[in-house]
Amino acid sequence: MMQTTETKALPQKSQSPAQARVVRLESIPAYAALTTFYGTPGTGLMTVTLPYPLRLSWDTITRITKTQCHKMVAKSLLSVLEAVHAEYGRSVFELGLDLYGGGYANRAQRGGAKLSVHAWGAAFDFDPDHNELRMDRDEARFAEPQYDAWWALWEEAGWISLGRTRNYDWMHVQACR
Ligand SMILES: [Zn+2]
Repeated sequence: MMQTTETKALPQKSQSPAQARVVRLESIPAYAALTTFYGTPGTGLMTVTLPYPLRLSWDTITRITKTQCHKMVAKSLLSVLEAVHAEYGRSVFELGLDLYGGGYANRAQRGGAKLSVHAWGAAFDFDPDHNELRMDRDEARFAEPQYDAWWALWEEAGWISLGRTRNYDWMHVQACR
């Protein structure tokens, strides 16, 4: 009897977008401190269940419900995606916020020799086809005003958009300064 009362939580959907609170990253390391902070690339990873399915940007009929990330960013990542879903609802699909370009990948930066933040499981790409590496804010879709709320949620949680801060690689968001 008690149990019934205790587990009767308000459904998530009754939350207004403003109430959908994101979990801030505890700390955001500089690039040079990534291994000290997160460990050797490829370690400390976990599999998380996404709050809504993501379409693979290179194979959009394939939907995924799980992805890999560093365990230190998992809570924040999921909270942002939950807040995005609360904020945008069905528009997540229309705006391509569910087009996933990838998370953990032990690889170098595109066109560079340094390891990508993706190698630590602390960076994620969305809709790369409309937000290519070299596109600036005049070309990248994610620079348009309908994505301001998307970025506001990431930024509220402490994540860095390379598009918003450096005006390139608008697909990319990272837990690194
Ligand atoms: Zn990226």
